[in-house]
Amino acid sequence: MVLAADRTLMSPYRGISLASFFGCAPALDFNRDHNSFWYYVMRNQVTPRVLFDFICNPIDHTNGVANYAPYGLRKVEAALLRDGYKHEDVVVAHPDHIEKFIGPETEVVGTYEMDPLGMGPVTMTFTYGRKQMSYDEFYSRELHMRINAAKARTGSKAKVIAGASGTWQYNYDPAKIEEYGLYGIVEGEMGGSGPEIDGAGGRFFDALIAGECDSANPFKKNQFKVEIKEFVRNGRRYHGRFIHYWNEPSVSEIPTIVNPSMHGMVEVMRGCGRGCKFCDVTLRPLRYYPVEKVQKEIEVNMKYGGLKNAWVHSDDIFVYGLNPRTTKNMQPNREALEELFRGIMATGIEHTNPTHGTLAGAIADERLIPNISKIIRASPDNHIGIQCGFETGSIRLIGKYADRKLAPYKPEEWHWVVKTAIKTLNENYWVPAFTLIMGLNNDETQEDSWETIRLIHELETEQPDSKFTTTPLTFVPIGLLEKSDFFDIGNTMDPGKLGVMYKTWQHNFKYGIQKFMGKVGRDNPIKNWFFTQLASTLGGVPLSAMERFARRKSFEHERAIEKIKAKYW
Ligand code: SF4
Repeated sequence: MVLAADRTLMSPYRGISLASFFGCAPALDFNRDHNSFWYYVMRNQVTPRVLFDFICNPIDHTNGVANYAPYGLRKVEAALLRDGYKHEDVVVAHPDHIEKFIGPETEVVGTYEMDPLGMGPVTMTFTYGRKQMSYDEFYSRELHMRINAAKARTGSKAKVIAGASGTWQYNYDPAKIEEYGLYGIVEGEMGGSGPEIDGAGGRFFDALIAGECDSANPFKKNQFKVEIKEFVRNGRRYHGRFIHYWNEPSVSEIPTIVNPSMHGMVEVMRGCGRGCKFCDVTLRPLRYYPVEKVQKEIEVNMKYGGLKNAWVHSDDIFVYGLNPRTTKNMQPNREALEELFRGIMATGIEHTNPTHGTLAGAIADERLIPNISKIIRASPDNHIGIQCGFETGSIRLIGKYADRKLAPYKPEEWHWVVKTAIKTLNENYWVPAFTLIMGLNNDETQEDSWETIRLIHELETEQPDSKFTTTPLTFVPIGLLEKSDFFDIGNTMDPGKLGVMYKTWQHNFKYGIQKFMGKVGRDNPIKNWFFTQLASTLGGVPLSAMERFARRKSFEHERAIEKIKAKYW
């Protein structure tokens, strides 16, 4: 059994946590005019590969075996070992060395895929709706090409199976199923949600090897339901074998990792009871890891990976330990959270941060953030990064699509919640990285967009020292909105939405990149110069590109940019 992930998922990103988003950056533009200056200088490259490869440095390996791997891949590995597969029969391969492990005796190659075709929300934003090829897609493609070449060279009949949360993308570009030679694609019941295959890892691989998934038989009782989908694209038919698995393992059925995960990632919960309509996490039942299980995984990372930090994967950390059906107003369970973080710190790690949390949850109990901050030793030298869904400044949209995200507050209080939460988080040395959704369910009016712009500007003027980043993401139809259309960034970018994109980048540039990058390497003039240049490239280039886009698009688009410069800068 060979398990693998592409380079963008197998990089420490030089220890810069937010740099892991860099895989979403555009790599190639196949439509570039061959007579243009940029084609002469860069050919098809958009973000120079040498820069990308420098930041996305490959993970260490030992004779081709990856020393660290994405957490989800580690879970599958742990499931196989727990379910009776021998150590020597299971390998998590480094993407640059995968061919070493593929031969006639290889039964299954399992690839872990989060954004294989560059259709995730961040990537779609950066590549103008996949008009360019992202590095996520570039390196995922390269991995599959290497697997295919190794199979062809050795005569291997290994079944290549793609799993994890990005596999839904093959439904939208089925030609890739053929091009990559995929035997199967694992999907959850709702299509969009990645299945929790780690609960049944051994049984699943047994079924693959025994050929039980070779054909679809709707009358046969099988927990791995095979569906052969047919797609017609440009007059051609494509077929794909989609394997559905929809059981949710109980916490005791979820294996504990046995080898180190990327970034020291450990999980503390699955599911989220808040019910935002645009999110697939919420379709899963809520389960929490007991503190001892979390500690065991951290100890694996410390002992075998030498890691001193723990990224605590959580969909909304502030619902840890509560029952959304019976807890009034989603009031956080402070005691459970304090016990969790005390247990995490008791392992001896130096730094921890939860990956995701809601703004409403952060302030619903005024002692919550101060108490957790003390436990995890947050300080001016130990900032806690957390990703939070800002989603929109529109009271109408937040009420319509994510009202429980605000509980215990009401949609009318959304602006107050955002402002108060940033203040509380910053005061306790937490820095939120906000994500916004552009074109939410294709229902965002220009007035909604301007409400978002105004809210960001109010935050900047009322709390000028506040620290937060804002990343606009284009709407992708998943969760309860999976039947909706993608937001088409190329054709549906009205002046308001362009304004949101422009304002968010301007905020990051002025309040984040310039401030932060200017401080990097103050003791070293060359390093400082490099990061200052990088800052102006990262910040200034997208802003000028948007200004050029506005000029080409229409007078109204240009006016929106001018209005932001005059009123909301
Ligand atoms: S709070 Fe976050 S994780 Fe929970 S349902 Fe909403 S978007 Fe999904």
